[in-house]
Amino acid sequence: MALQFIDQVDFKDKKVIARFDFNVPLRKDGSLEITDTTRIDRSLPSIKHILESGASKLVLMSHLGRPKGKVDPRFTLEPVANYLASVLDTDVTLTESATDSGIKSLLSLKSNKIILLQNLRFHPEEEGNDPTFAKRLASYGDIYVNDAFGTSHRKHASTYGIVAYHKNSCCGGFLLKKEIEALNKLVESPSPPFVAIIGGGKVSDKIKIIEQLLSKVDRMIIGGAMAYPFLKTKGFTVGSSLCNDEDLNLAKKILNSGRANKIYLPVDHVISNKIGGDPEVLKEIDIPEGKMGLDIGPETLSLYKDQINDARTIFWNGPMGYFEDPQFADGTFEIAKILSESSAFRLIGGGDSVSAVNKSGLAEKMSHISTGGGASLEYIEMGQLPGVQALKFGI
Ligand code: AMP
Repeated sequence: MALQFIDQVDFKDKKVIARFDFNVPLRKDGSLEITDTTRIDRSLPSIKHILESGASKLVLMSHLGRPKGKVDPRFTLEPVANYLASVLDTDVTLTESATDSGIKSLLSLKSNKIILLQNLRFHPEEEGNDPTFAKRLASYGDIYVNDAFGTSHRKHASTYGIVAYHKNSCCGGFLLKKEIEALNKLVESPSPPFVAIIGGGKVSDKIKIIEQLLSKVDRMIIGGAMAYPFLKTKGFTVGSSLCNDEDLNLAKKILNSGRANKIYLPVDHVISNKIGGDPEVLKEIDIPEGKMGLDIGPETLSLYKDQINDARTIFWNGPMGYFEDPQFADGTFEIAKILSESSAFRLIGGGDSVSAVNKSGLAEKMSHISTGGGASLEYIEMGQLPGVQALKFGI
């Protein structure tokens, strides 16, 4: 069965229950002020489409933060309801809870066209994928829409269990469609040369994605703290750079896998005595005792640029150094710049590389920036996500 998307479905006079990812950051001072509305803004095309297609009701649902199955006023969706009401210029009714007894009567009223269920994760049944809870959510709509790509790798009641009650009346939203189409370009038929740029903290966090990508890519460029276990395995010294035993074992396994010839490692570094210390360019691979590598060096950048130049498909995950400190951010920002000038299909996936690209001001120049870090990595690794499979085949 093919996956149906929102533009193939007739919403006229239908009640719609739709899952979005409104998990926006709030100000830390408890003032319930949204600091970045991107996630809600990216949901607007689907919301507007459903309303403009004549739906009689739109019931929106999402989680926010980690309230761990309990009602916690710090994670109320009230600021989301207020923001939606202002951008859509209409009333948005926030329910007291996702299972509030008043919801049934709200659904029968002609007014209150848009209803936002209170935070789904106030109920342990959401993350527990409880069938009774899923059935209750399903009962609020004739059609179920999933546009929460960033949570579609989770088997939760609102992203997975609910589909059991909407087997022939479910579809993906525009954001989900965009993400899947972009990721499919990497998973299904990447144009060669395909270059992966992998950086960030720990090999162990990314081992599966590295192994999976190595079977698909022509070259893998490694930077950030990720590089040191590989360099050490090859017999170079890494000083006090981040490098633990678990990562060393994993790096050894990857280098012995028969695909090591695709891997490119730094040939020079920007080092310091400590995180936040003064930077120093080290024009060799071996890092002396007492010094730590915090960014890739200029020679490495030029080597990496040559490897990226003729690429037709590029995937980037993870910064090239400790980029939060501008003294060690050149490697990461230069990679963003090189990508911005490339004509390849360029997909940026994963939290820190996304924030690095946003910080560099070059986000507009990339082909696709994935909104769901964990979800996009899992899609590349597995070629599917539970929430998306459910829409396609039911559960
Ligand atoms: P990840 O979440 O695995 O992509 O890791 C990102 C984090 O790794 C960021 O906070 C970076 O500052 C950090 N990082 C990258 N390279 C280094 C490095 N050479 N030394 C210390 N931290 C680093």
